[in-house]
Amino acid sequence: MRVLPVKTFGDNYAYLLVDESRHTAAVVDPGQAGPVREWLARGGLKLAAILATHHHDDHVGGIGELVTLAPGIPVLGAAADKGRIPHQTDFLEDGDPVEAGGMRGTAIATPGHTRGGVAYFFPAPLGGDLFAGDTLFGGTMGNLFEGTPDRMRATLKRLRDLPERTRLWPGHEYTESGVRDALRLQPDDPVIVARMAAVEAALARSGRTIPLSLDEERRTNPFLRWDDPDLRALLGTTGDKDTFRKLCEVL
Ligand code: ZN
Ligand code: FE
Repeated sequence: MRVLPVKTFGDNYAYLLVDESRHTAAVVDPGQAGPVREWLARGGLKLAAILATHHHDDHVGGIGELVTLAPGIPVLGAAADKGRIPHQTDFLEDGDPVEAGGMRGTAIATPGHTRGGVAYFFPAPLGGDLFAGDTLFGGTMGNLFEGTPDRMRATLKRLRDLPERTRLWPGHEYTESGVRDALRLQPDDPVIVARMAAVEAALARSGRTIPLSLDEERRTNPFLRWDDPDLRALLGTTGDKDTFRKLCEVL
């Protein structure tokens, strides 16, 4: 799948999923219309669909303008977000099929950051592409605005269980602060130390750390490591829920 990241508001990401054969693109989380229009024009692409991960304005703020440019296109979002996503036409439940950028994917319900919301997963032979919105970031996770730690952990478990070689496309460029917090928690973990250096190098080179690797998140993101023995020893916890709740308190 060809993915074109589009920066909006400085640290948000919208993504164009490009269908090369049709010269069309779907857009994930267009918080602003301007930058999306610019990248569509640059690529000679026609907008074919809008996919929203959740209702927050920095992810859906551009929808109104984009639908006037491409009247009648589908606007996908969670059924749980009904009434909260402008111009929504498709109300997705967990596991519903999704088509975008010439690819077939699946909606995964992601309660936690908000009470409803979806991630979009497009499988590929050796992994796939996951558009996670504000559920999972580099080194950290989204705020629990409308969900509980238990709910969020259940959501993250489902994302963690996706194929190892999945590319993760998050809703914000938060990797530097996320990995720095993970390093503060476990300053002697060599894998996290190495990742911090790689993140700094990537930011110096291109200003971005995407796509993230789901496998690397599994090894370095504390919010995916509630069953890690070292982390449990450090936090003085024993069970999954207990460990995750403690992580929510200390990070
Ligand atoms: Zn959000
Ligand atoms: Fe956001």
